[in-house]
Amino acid sequence: VSKLSLRNIEKRYGNVIALHPVSLEVEEGEFLTLLGPSGSGKTTILQILAGLIDADGGEMLIGGKPAQHLPAWERDIGLVFQNYALFPHMTIEENLAFPLKMRRRPAAEIARRVQDVLEVVRLPDIALRFPSELSGGQQQRIALARCAIYKPAIILMDEPLGALDKQLRDHMQIEVRRLHRELGATILYVTHDQDEAMAMSDRICLMNGGRIQQLGAPEDMYFSP
Ligand code: ADP
Ligand code: ADP
Repeated sequence: VSKLSLRNIEKRYGNVIALHPVSLEVEEGEFLTLLGPSGSGKTTILQILAGLIDADGGEMLIGGKPAQHLPAWERDIGLVFQNYALFPHMTIEENLAFPLKMRRRPAAEIARRVQDVLEVVRLPDIALRFPSELSGGQQQRIALARCAIYKPAIILMDEPLGALDKQLRDHMQIEVRRLHRELGATILYVTHDQDEAMAMSDRICLMNGGRIQQLGAPEDMYFSP
């Protein structure tokens, strides 16, 4: 149900080719990383999958179904970005409850799941604080929790650890992998950090100039020095 297939997906911005025809399959439950320099087309792939922008050509299947005309909220996709995108005027509890309220879950269930997910990200005591009162690392854990709370089958992550310092990034890599195991979700992860891709991924898709250069398990990748 959570397999992703891109078949000859293309995207142009005026004269700029963001994606040459790209074909990629992400297996159910897989952790696949798009690795590549800035401008190589990584974010464009995530945006097309999330339904935030349309491809110019090609075909896309989500869970085996043509997705082009599926609205974003029907794709069972969660998004996590570098800038956290927590709602600043809401408490942590309200931020976490938001996706469940949107889905009209009962209040008692929401309260229970908010507490559960705060335990999962090991921040059980901050429900009533505001995002600005948390450190960057804590905010990023809440952003992960807000995505995990409704258990999407597919999670798209765009440089989610990019704003964190090295020590926190190493720690959060472990947290993200633990979340992947616990949710059993298919994860498509974007980074320009080769070490991060090597440490976290089942497979790495190396991109450059809007094309796939290599695709394979970390131990099978070749990186030019
Ligand atoms: P990456 O995520 O690997 O940094 P992007 O997918 O963001 O790469 O961008 C791929 C190419 O498309 C780049 O050349 C970028 O400048 C261009 N691009 C992306 N978004 C836009 C946009 N909204 N308008 C014009 N060009 C864009
Ligand atoms: P952007 O601000 O880049 O356009 P969005 O508006 O799509 O991004 O998403 C803003 C924030 O809301 C993101 O951090 C994302 O994790 C979260 N979000 C997006 N879609 C959903 C959803 N269906 N359910 C819960 N949270 C969502």
